[in-house]
Amino acid sequence: MKRAKVTVIGAGPAGCVAALTLHKLGHEVVVYEKGRFPRYRVGESFLPGTLSILNRLGLQEKIDAAGFVEKPSATFLWGQDQAPWTFSFATPKTAPWVFGHAIQVKREEFDALLLGEVRERGIPVFEDAAVTDVDLSDPDRVTLKVLSGVVESDYVIDAGGSGSPLARRLKVRRYDEFYKNFAVWSYFRCKQPFEGDLKGTTFSITFEHGWVWMIPLKGDVYSVGLVVDRSAAAEVKKLGPERFYRETLAKAVRATAILGDAEMIDEVRIVHDWSYDSERFSGDRYFLCGDAACFTDPLFSQGVHLATQSAVSAASAIDRITRHEDERDEVHAWYNRSYRETYEQYHEFLASFYTFASFTEPESEFWLKRRISESDDARLNRLKWFDRLIQDDPENPTASVADFRDRASTMIAIGRHQRKELSDEFSEKELNVARVRWISDLTKQLNRITRLKWTGDEVLLKPYYKVEPLSFRLERKQVLANEDGLDMIKFPVEEEQREIFQLVTKETVGYKSLIKQLNDSGKQEVSSQIVIRLMEAGLLSGYDKADNRVIIQDRLRFDGVGVEYEV
Ligand SMILES: Cc1cc2nc3c(=O)[nH]c(=O)nc-3n(C[C@H](O)[C@H](O)[C@H](O)COP(=O)(O)OP(=O)(O)OC[C@H]3O[C@@H](n4cnc5c(N)ncnc54)[C@H](O)[C@@H]3O)c2cc1C
Repeated sequence: MKRAKVTVIGAGPAGCVAALTLHKLGHEVVVYEKGRFPRYRVGESFLPGTLSILNRLGLQEKIDAAGFVEKPSATFLWGQDQAPWTFSFATPKTAPWVFGHAIQVKREEFDALLLGEVRERGIPVFEDAAVTDVDLSDPDRVTLKVLSGVVESDYVIDAGGSGSPLARRLKVRRYDEFYKNFAVWSYFRCKQPFEGDLKGTTFSITFEHGWVWMIPLKGDVYSVGLVVDRSAAAEVKKLGPERFYRETLAKAVRATAILGDAEMIDEVRIVHDWSYDSERFSGDRYFLCGDAACFTDPLFSQGVHLATQSAVSAASAIDRITRHEDERDEVHAWYNRSYRETYEQYHEFLASFYTFASFTEPESEFWLKRRISESDDARLNRLKWFDRLIQDDPENPTASVADFRDRASTMIAIGRHQRKELSDEFSEKELNVARVRWISDLTKQLNRITRLKWTGDEVLLKPYYKVEPLSFRLERKQVLANEDGLDMIKFPVEEEQREIFQLVTKETVGYKSLIKQLNDSGKQEVSSQIVIRLMEAGLLSGYDKADNRVIIQDRLRFDGVGVEYEV
């Protein structure tokens, strides 16, 4: 097998996971790290999908031995006078690498564990070794300046975080004007205040000036951070970080109620918390991963997951290109699209949730600034589904803004608790009623569909890639598409399913009959998911007996949670 030589910039989660995946796939890899580990990092609350990647890379024993705090859920006190709601990670264990929980970590400990594993597997790592320049001008190789020398390789993965040397050189970074926040945080000695289902959860709590994260870490430590508007910089300068932090935190009364008389045990840290992405995430012989490529507000603790997911994707893309040189452009197109869509899901989540909260914090400048209220808001223009909504109802485009808000409301409604008070009695079980109701409503709606309509005339199969979960190889698959280029990339299909959908363009097919055919074709585990995803992608719509369109309420979705992880 052809082996690629790959240089990885940075030994954070993105860099280490890229190195481990490339090594597993049989390639030669070297890591250059600017700092010296263990080094401090913010970003302590994870998603289950990260555990899945680490498990499949063979790190389970080390993770278990480290004794990190188990995170079963994220609980939101989101909006004044709103009952708390919980996003629970509970999910059926359909494979040993599907997790119903995540972990909370001290990053210096977690990152050092990862880097230790990289070294143990024999991958060369250089610390105190900043990459100062990357030369991509030669089509056959990449040249990096590092320490006092020059390094050549076939590919470079820039996992250098927000200071990425390559993003700077390529000038591809684009900041999002709407989410220029500021984060200020410290640590408290605070025994986990709750037992039962609240134990280990991350709290996100709104208040007038922004929101607060509270993350329980090992050893009775709580990480407590404030996310506030960038204009706070002037006040921080005037008061100093510690006084600003203490005074602002005191205004977040629902957070301080949980902390009680906990003692602050560390310095106050500050960072710009600005959302950004890149015009492109890869090309020719380079890949940007993790914070080097994009970053969005930490509301849903997705940073490390985006880092590890993109790292696996970049490594398997390099492996594929090395074995199939002729697919280079297609593989880059896949990497860029899949990464961007994952990032956009989180961005959409952020916009929906900030907008939702803005209606419950009416006097607040922070929340008003972040509310989406007009259909021409730039944040909505970037969302494909939003364009479709507008086309569906040309008479009334503002209805789509309401629909946008509904997505957050739907998600919150599924996780809303009946009781307002947080206590040891707080139970995730009480959410089952809402979950069952949601699923039964959805099923009822789908069963009402007596006629399905395919958008366009042709049902086509289009090549697309998927990372095989256990081998980490990038495999060429096929997905459904129409002649206008609309497609649904989540679930791969074969000719047999294509023929089933081609029938929909010619005959009257209802939902139940379609599901039966898909089940019979071997897709029983995902048949209704395929139909729902096709509807979300705008390829399929449904009508009831009276020929009225049946609207299926979308939920917000993101990779890294649930049964299906994207990698
Ligand atoms: C306020 C805040 C709160 C957050 N909370 C969370 C959270 O709860 N959960 C979560 O998952 N994420 C969170 N994040 C995001 C998370 O910190 C990052 O997304 C994550 O660390 C990205 O990992 P990475 O490997 O891409 O980059 P990093 O962890 O930043 O690692 C990059 C590495 O590259 C090295 N490097 C940089 N430049 C060079 C160079 N020129 N040459 C060689 N090496 C270089 C650096 O020293 C560093 O070790 C938060 C972020 C912020 C700002």
